[in-house]
Formats: sequence, C-alpha cells, structure tokens
Amino acid sequence: MKNMKRTFALILVVVMVLLSITACGGSDSDSAVDTIKENGKIVMLTNAAFAPFEYMEGNTVVGVDADIAAEIAKELGVELEIVNMDFDSIIDFVKTEKGDFGAAGITVNEERKAQVDFSVEYVTSTQYVIIPADQDPATYDLNGKIIGVQQGTTGDMYYASVTDTFTCKEVKRYKSAVDAANDMKAGRVDCVIIDELPAKKIVENNADTMLCYDPGWAPEDYAIAVKKGSDLLPVINTVLERLMDEGMIEEYVINHTGA
Ligand code: GLN
Repeated sequence: MKNMKRTFALILVVVMVLLSITACGGSDSDSAVDTIKENGKIVMLTNAAFAPFEYMEGNTVVGVDADIAAEIAKELGVELEIVNMDFDSIIDFVKTEKGDFGAAGITVNEERKAQVDFSVEYVTSTQYVIIPADQDPATYDLNGKIIGVQQGTTGDMYYASVTDTFTCKEVKRYKSAVDAANDMKAGRVDCVIIDELPAKKIVENNADTMLCYDPGWAPEDYAIAVKKGSDLLPVINTVLERLMDEGMIEEYVINHTGA
C-alpha cells in the first residue's frame, strides 16, 4: 500500500514535470519570426568595414547588406537594428541567438554550413590581391610575401593560411582589410588578400598608392546566415528572390560603389 502510494506520487510528479515542459514549449514559442514580431525589431549582425556591402556613414551602417536587411524588416513589419562587430564572431553569435541573422558578405562554405543555415546565394565574388602601386600585377609572386588578411575570412582560411596555393613568409591578421591595407601603406605587409569589391573600394580610396588584381582563384557565393532550423530562413529567401528578380541587388551594388 505504502509502495503503491509512493509510486503514484512519483508518477504524479513525472506527469507534472512533463506538463510544465510542454506548457513552456507552447507559450514560449521557438519561432524566430514570432519573437521578432513580438519585439517589433529584427537584429542584423555585421562587420561594417567591408564596403560596398557594409560600411559606416557617420554613425550609421549602410551598404548592400543593410539595404537587403531593410527589406527583410519591412517584410516582417518591424524595425531593423544593425550590430557592428568583429567578422570572425558573427557565425558564433548567430548560432547562439545573439542576433537574428548575419549579413556580412559571408561566403557559404562547408565549415560554416555545419554551424548555421544559409539563405539563397545573392552575390558571387572572388578573392583579389591588393599590392603597392609600383608593383606589376602580371608578374607579382605571392611566394615569400608577408600577407595581410581580415581574420577568419575566406582569404585568410583558403589562401594565406594554406600552403598549396603559394607559400608566404608570414600572415598578418587584422580586424578588417582596411586596417591591413593601411599597414601595407606603412610597409608592414607586402600585400592584402580580400574579396573583389571591397578590394576595389580600398584601391579606389588609395588610387595613388595601391592597385589590385584577380589571381584567378575560385568563385565564392555570399548568403545570409541564420540559426539552424530557424523559421526566419524562408522569409529571408522570399525577400532575396524578389530582390534578385527585380534586379535590386545589382542596383544596391551600383549605389554603394558609386559606379
Ligand atoms: N567573403 C569573405 C568571407 O566570408 C569575407 C567577408 C567579410 O570580410 N565581411 O570570409
């Protein structure tokens, strides 16, 4: 009898615990879209030293990705907040929900795909090499050079830090390619590896001292990163598909390159 009572009490506790878990799951929705709508705000994570995709204009982050993000916010009927942070922490922040999505000219690759979900790809790029203006791109040899990169980028991971493409003397990692290029100007690195349009933008701002060239490496595609399984992904994809259909991504690129 005592045993039966005890068993019954135990079952009751288990049932109550189970009930409270399901109740939590029900009210505390795991829908990112619901939470964003409840908060009236969506948070984009980026690194605003990557013009034309994201850069500072006064105190505001602007650029192609900011324009896309504004359309995503509009689609959901919420405000857009942009957080400017280190590029190499964005995937981690997306993964741990310290923001709703990462939009930072992020190249889709297997390492990142293992950690986050990616939207449809909206831009194709490739890595460029920035060199001092007195160098000849046709004969430039990356072997034996001190190379500046933005830490954690594909330029860093695929080229500077591996030995099968070329063997450099040293890799110097910076918070941004702009910082790396400034160090090239100061003579502390020989060249800088960074994505095509940001490379061209940096050179445009330093036309008398720098030039850049295409070393002919593989194309890379940019996409927006969300937490794995997030219901925000179809919303982002709908917006991106529409913007691509309407030719708006090209227009944003033109607007922010001043072409
Ligand atoms: N496309 C590169 C990457 O994903 C660089 C992006 C960036 O620096 N914002 O690694």
